[in-house]
Formats: sequence, C-alpha cells, structure tokens
Amino acid sequence: MHTVSYDFIVIGAGHNGLACAAYLAKAGAKVLVAERSARVGGGCHTEEVTLPGFKHNICSVVHTHIPTSPVYRDLELEHHGVRYVYPEHPRGTIFPDHKTIVMHREPERTAAELGRFSARDARTFTQLVNDYGEFFEATYLPLMYSPPLPPSAQTAELEKSEEGRTLLQWQVSTPVQLLNELFESEEVKVHFLNRLTVLNIAPDQHGLGWICLFRILLAEAPICVGGSGQLAAGLRSALEANGGAVQTGLGVRQILTRGNRAVGVEFEDGTRAETAKAVITNVEPKKSFLQMVGEESLPDTFATRVKNYHSRGRSLFALHLALSEPPRYRAAADNSSVDISFSQEMFGGSVEEQVRAYHDIAMGSPPRRAMLQVTLPTIFDPSQAPDGKHTAVIWQYAPYNVSPRGPEGWRDLRVEYASYVLDLWRSYAPNITQDKILAMTIQDPTDTVQINDNFINGVEVVGDLSPDQMGFFRPFANWSNYRSPLDGLYMCGGYCHPGGGVHAGAGHNAATVIAEDFALNKWWG
Ligand SMILES: Cc1cc2nc3c(=O)[nH]c(=O)nc-3n(C[C@H](O)[C@H](O)[C@H](O)COP(=O)(O)OP(=O)(O)OC[C@H]3O[C@@H](n4cnc5c(N)ncnc54)[C@H](O)[C@@H]3O)c2cc1C
Repeated sequence: MHTVSYDFIVIGAGHNGLACAAYLAKAGAKVLVAERSARVGGGCHTEEVTLPGFKHNICSVVHTHIPTSPVYRDLELEHHGVRYVYPEHPRGTIFPDHKTIVMHREPERTAAELGRFSARDARTFTQLVNDYGEFFEATYLPLMYSPPLPPSAQTAELEKSEEGRTLLQWQVSTPVQLLNELFESEEVKVHFLNRLTVLNIAPDQHGLGWICLFRILLAEAPICVGGSGQLAAGLRSALEANGGAVQTGLGVRQILTRGNRAVGVEFEDGTRAETAKAVITNVEPKKSFLQMVGEESLPDTFATRVKNYHSRGRSLFALHLALSEPPRYRAAADNSSVDISFSQEMFGGSVEEQVRAYHDIAMGSPPRRAMLQVTLPTIFDPSQAPDGKHTAVIWQYAPYNVSPRGPEGWRDLRVEYASYVLDLWRSYAPNITQDKILAMTIQDPTDTVQINDNFINGVEVVGDLSPDQMGFFRPFANWSNYRSPLDGLYMCGGYCHPGGGVHAGAGHNAATVIAEDFALNKWWG
C-alpha cells in the first residue's frame, strides 16, 4: 500500500492545531493537518443555521486575546483576512430590578459606573487597575504564550513584590472570598462574578480567586469580522501560504507506534500516513491516548492520569436567533449603553443565588433562574446578517447530564426549556415580540457534543479549569510541556496550558517546544 509521508501530522484543525501547524510550516517543515469534520476551526465555527445570510457563531463568539497575541502578529493574520472590532462597552450586567452596570474599555468610565452603586467600590476598582494593570499586562499575558512555570518558580516570582504576595493569598481563596474582601455592593460583586462564570469556573472553589482578579481587569471583547470561523479561515490561509496542507473529512482512527515512538497515523478510511518527525494531537486526551494510541502502549501512571482528566463543569444551552431588530432592554432607562454593550448578562440578583445556581447545575438541574448571556455580533459587524437584520446568541448555563436521565434528558426538555429561556430573556427586552424573531435554532449541550466531541460533557474549555488541571498541572503533572510519554507524539489542544478558549496559546507553545526538540528554524519569539 502506498503510504504518504510528512514531517508532522496534526490531528484536528481546531484553531490550536492550525496555529501550531502554521508555525511549523513556516519553519520549513512539511505539515499535514487532518480534520475529521467537513470544515476547519473546531470551536471557531460560523454557520447559517437559521436563515440564508444570517451567520451564527455556534461556539466561540469573542476572542479576547487573539488580536494582541504573538500568534496574530507572527502569522500576519491581518493579511490573511482576520480582523477584529472592539465594542466600546464590553459587558453589561442587568439585575432583576432592571438596574444595570455597563463596563467601558476605559477603566475611568467603568469606575464611574461602579460609583453609581458604591463610591468605595469605584475607588477599589481604580486601585486594582493601578496596582495590577501593568503587572497583568507584563506577566499574565506572556505566561499564556510560554510553557507553564513550575509552581516554585511562579511562587518565587510572586514573592518579590507586595502585590505578588497578596496575589499568592488570592490564588488559594475562592472567587466569592476575593469579591467579599474587595467590594461592598452586591451588584458590583455579581457583575464581576459573571465575568468568571463564563470561563466555567465555580464561584466557590478554592484556588481560583486570582483568576477573578484578572477577569476584573480584562476589559476587551474583540469579535472577529465575518464571524469566528473567519479566524480559522485565516489560520488555514497562513498555513497553506507556507506550504502546509489541510485535509477535511479525514478523521484519524489510530496513532501508529513502533516501540516507544509514534510514527504515523491511520485514517478512518483505512489509509495511512507516516511522519518523519512527529504526530501532534489537537484532540482531547481520552480519545488521543486511550483510543488512538491504546492504553497498552502507555505507562500505567500516565494512562491513569488520562482516565482521571475531568470535564465535570457546566455546559451551555444556546439559542440562535435571526432578528428583525435588536433588543431594547428595560435597563436602558438606567443606562442606555447597555443596548450597545457586547453582551448583556442576567445572572440573578445576589452572589448567593449565583452560587446556588451553579450547585443546581452540578446536581443536574437546568437552572430555573436567569444565568443568561446574550450577544448580538451584528451590532458591531453588520456583515454577519442581511442589511438591517441581526443575529443573537443566548446562552443559558446548564448541565450536560440532566437528572435523572443524563444527556438523554434533553430530548424531552429542550423545546420547553428553550421557550422558558426565551421568555426569560424577553422579560428583560420586551420589544422582542414573536414577530421580531424570524427564525430560531436550539443548541442544547448534547447538540454541542454532536457537533464537536472534543467538548466532553459539553464543557467548552476542553476539560475543567480547576486548580488541579491548570498551569503546570494541565493536562497532567509532569506532562504540561506539550510532550507525551511517546517519542514523536505531542499535544497542542485547549486541554494543555493555558487552557480552553480561543487564544491559540497551546498551539503556539507546542510549536515552540517542537521546534526546539527538532532543531527547526525557530523564526518567532
Ligand atoms: C458553546 C460554546 C461557546 C464558546 N464560546 C467561546 C467564546 O466566546 N470565546 C472563547 O474564547 N471560547 C469559547 N468557547 C471555547 C472554545 O471554542 C474552545 O475552547 C476552543 O475551540 C478549543 O480549541 P482547540 O483548537 O483546542 O479545539 P477544538 O476547537 O475543539 O478543535 C478540535 C478539532 O479536532 C477535530 N477532531 C476531533 N477528533 C478528530 C479525529 N479523530 N481526527 C481528526 N480530527 C478530529 C474536531 O473536529 C475539531 O475540529 C466556546 C465553546 C462552546 C462549545
């Protein structure tokens, strides 16, 4: 049988796989990206799922770090058609009494908004920006685009300054503890807690307080012009411009090994391809290692770690709407900017309620209270819908396993729950009468997994972002450097540091490690 050969084969054309491949191709390597589905991009996925001309973002909507990342610069993504727009108001939290807190890109204006609820909280926010703003820019972002530091090195770095030592304490506290320490207004606390829930981070889990701080400081919501699939198209274009190849509709069934070395792959159609250097997997660990490699070829301790890798967090219940006009919120009477903020978030009125809603989800109960995030990309990028029309995505946070039937439970529940969620939203935006909804598509958590089974249990960050699966421990202690126990097999997905989300950190960092291991021309960084 004829077997083709490449330097590197990347399994999966998620944005991480594409980014990793594009770096290696530009270093002169012969690279193939094999993608099982008919399109590239994984969670960067834009599709007309309601009516012709209405482009809906099926997974990611906002790419917070991409435009300022080394990946955007190095791969010259702007020249490959990837452009971002920045809403002036990144978020607006709406409370049950239709009061609202609307963030602004400028911290001074956000502080003024917080001051409507508490002068002390406004001062605290300003102080945090002064104390940690630069620190955040100078340390957090570079740490995303390099392999994770060992805990001792990270601690030593933080111990050097007063801010760093405070951060060490916040590192072990819960987000709720941090918010209670910093702020007095319940609304301000709820507003910042929302910023965390979108990351699938439990509000009352120890070891996550410091992430809350970074989310407080982060005030950008860049969206990709044309929809998030345009980022994938740009990465593919950058890869192909440098001689790399992508093949869609080509799933990998097996990673071929000889001794302790990965030497190629077998595709689902039974054909094979060899690698002169390495196989790189963008696919989550259980499928990559237990199915594609096979437990018998792995060290016991590694196989155990793969089995224990967990995705227990909550998922998203999504509604995609084609609208004839944008929502006008009742909360606009309190602050009209809420109508033009990137997203509107309705998460109930108190921190306690939010914590309880999270617990409901953990117990398998789709919450019967608002945990809503609504986004209309078309307000900022009209190209995503026909003239004058809009697309909206409504996310309600929900479990994948519905008690007592598990995922099957969604079959009976989805239509009724969609109508519950829609009515809940419309109680905040009464102008959206039925005639304004031109079409609607429901995406329950099982649909998300059907579309891309990289999101185990519908967890969008490709494995829980919990302290035992972050940084030096992601995906596993001793294996957070993108290498695996098999020579010639590397990891590059959101299950690696710096985690899920669209920032291409894992793809970038894996390429860096691989270039060093194979003495390639490392032209970046
Ligand atoms: C509903 C939802 C909303 C989200 N919103 C946001 C957001 O607004 N902002 C944000 O930053 N993030 C968001 N995310 C998360 C983000 O989309 C993911 O974390 C990100 O896509 C992970 O990227 P990745 O490249 O690691 O993997 P993926 O994007 O999952 O790509 C993996 C690829 O591997 C392919 N594959 C799987 N098995 C095989 C095989 N055997 N052979 C070949 N190919 C295979 C898959 O088809 C897929 O294309 C959201 C996710 C979901 C589900």
